[in-house]
Amino acid sequence: MLFSQDIGIDLGTSNTLICVRNKGILIREPSVVAVQVGSAEKRVVAVGNEAKEMIGRTPGSIVAVRPIKDGVIADFGSTVAMLRQFIKKAMASSPLARARVMISIPSGVTEVERKAVHDAAIAAGARYVSLIEVPMAAAIGAGVSVTQPKGAMVVDIGGGTTQVAVLSLGDVVCSRSIRVAGDVFDDAIVQYIRRTYNVLIGERTAEELKISIGSASRYEGEGAMDVRGRGLIDGLPKNIEVTSEDVRVALTDPLNQIVETVRTTLEKTPPELAADIMDTGILLTGGGALLRGMDKLLTEKTGMPAKIAEEPMDCVVTGTAICLDRDTLNIRKRAGK
Ligand code: ADP
Ligand code: MG
Repeated sequence: MLFSQDIGIDLGTSNTLICVRNKGILIREPSVVAVQVGSAEKRVVAVGNEAKEMIGRTPGSIVAVRPIKDGVIADFGSTVAMLRQFIKKAMASSPLARARVMISIPSGVTEVERKAVHDAAIAAGARYVSLIEVPMAAAIGAGVSVTQPKGAMVVDIGGGTTQVAVLSLGDVVCSRSIRVAGDVFDDAIVQYIRRTYNVLIGERTAEELKISIGSASRYEGEGAMDVRGRGLIDGLPKNIEVTSEDVRVALTDPLNQIVETVRTTLEKTPPELAADIMDTGILLTGGGALLRGMDKLLTEKTGMPAKIAEEPMDCVVTGTAICLDRDTLNIRKRAGK
């Protein structure tokens, strides 16, 4: 007999997470697919962690694809292949089940983009698919009671996009999204090191710098890190010391863009809801929320208290799983049961 299993999916630009009802978060892997090119047909050789490890260590015929770009599907076939494997892995204990899936999508995407996510989940083996907007899922996952007539603001800083939204009465009142987030931070660090030290570093190194010594505002115990790159003058490997200050300066421009987006969203927010946000504060989620001092920067620049969610990288998937329960309830209600 066929039975179903409920799963929530956060299909992010950098990471895909799957939460299985009653079991917790079982998948937490990079949204990466390794594809064999050259033959007539592209063949998927690995997904997730395994695919990421292959980057740069495999023969030239295997390339890494990031199928999600700016939160939406850029490569349908690879997305399906990746989702299929992740879902299979998450449901290993009940292989006969067909999944009922709640999956997050950025707010403000087009109908075509929504449909692509829905269709990809179906093609990957899901039986029913519901969609929920990222800021809504993030707030619910962080424990905000979004159905109250009280305004709440969420700023989700992921790899590809920063999504800012004001929620009230279970709905998105206003939202803005920009393509400035973790990946742009990394790139800004690469550019800064190149300009300042005449050294070219890789994106992975830039991300390491950001995570180990980076910050959005000054912090106690700032440090420095030795990194290796390629000298732009002689083309030879070169070691340089990069400081926290360097990284903060490098991030000034993208951080300003995020602050500006939060400010313009606040300006568009109805006054009563803005007053609520003044009370409850801005909630920060996504991996970018882990950048040191992100809360402090937003508080300084907007005058609103800002706080980082607990486990900011898990909020969205946790929210999708919580909504599965509600959605199931709604379906029952609609069916008159
Ligand atoms: P997405 O939803 O787009 O998949 P995530 O919420 O998973 O993105 O966040 C991924 C981003 O978070 C990456 O750019 C990564 O470098 C960044 N990140 C992860 N941990 C940290 C940290 N401790 N400090 C700063 N940035 C971080
Ligand atoms: Mg995300």
